[in-house]
Amino acid sequence: MPVNKKIYNDISEQLHQKAVCLVAVSKTKPVEDIQELYDLGQRDFGENYVQELVDKAEKLPKDIRWHFIGHLQTNKVKLIAAFVQLIHGVDSLKLLKEINKQAEKNNRVIDCLLQVHIAQEETKFGLDEEELNSVMEEVANLQMANVQIRGLMGMASFTENLDKVQNEFRYLKKLFDKKNPLTIHHSAFTTLSMGMSSDYTLAIQEGSNMVRIGSLLFGERHKNVRL
Ligand SMILES: *Cc1c(COP(=O)(O)O)cnc(C)c1O
Repeated sequence: MPVNKKIYNDISEQLHQKAVCLVAVSKTKPVEDIQELYDLGQRDFGENYVQELVDKAEKLPKDIRWHFIGHLQTNKVKLIAAFVQLIHGVDSLKLLKEINKQAEKNNRVIDCLLQVHIAQEETKFGLDEEELNSVMEEVANLQMANVQIRGLMGMASFTENLDKVQNEFRYLKKLFDKKNPLTIHHSAFTTLSMGMSSDYTLAIQEGSNMVRIGSLLFGERHKNVRL
């Protein structure tokens, strides 16, 4: 299925005006589709699976900013550490330490978002408020020089109930604002990644400044593909 260029142009224009970063989520989609959006000017792309990301990054232009938005296993960090732009789903200190280690090996600093569990579904990954606090404390204490916590990421419930989705986004924004002043000295804590195809408008209304949009740009993904 071809990329929807009209929708892309409309969305990217709209987000640009609001200073919201658009991450085009290209998981399960072929490199040709990514190249099409690239040719329209898109540079931020999001992927969920390490091997798929590595394969695509090899074939596509080197100035693409690759976002890892899936659940990252500790033993796979090394495969993407050399080039990944932003890791959205950091949900443990163990993972963060490994990212720090691999970033150091590659002589770079890797930007990360801490994932907060805001949905009611149990299957979604992420930290609760207490865990978030403790990870952020540890980060400050351990002084990991090769990771930079840039903000928070969250996924709302899959539901038609927009009030519920809105409440979940509000909750995440509140946490984000609470954490903001703590890091003001190096002012790196500026990114709030929330909103997908079905709820990005609402997410922006509630304070998101980075949205992750897949199916709206690339078409539906096949149901039998592992997501
Ligand atoms: C797949 C995915 C998206 C994009 O979902 P769409 O509904 O296709 O826009 C966004 N964020 C994460 C974490 C995802 O896994």
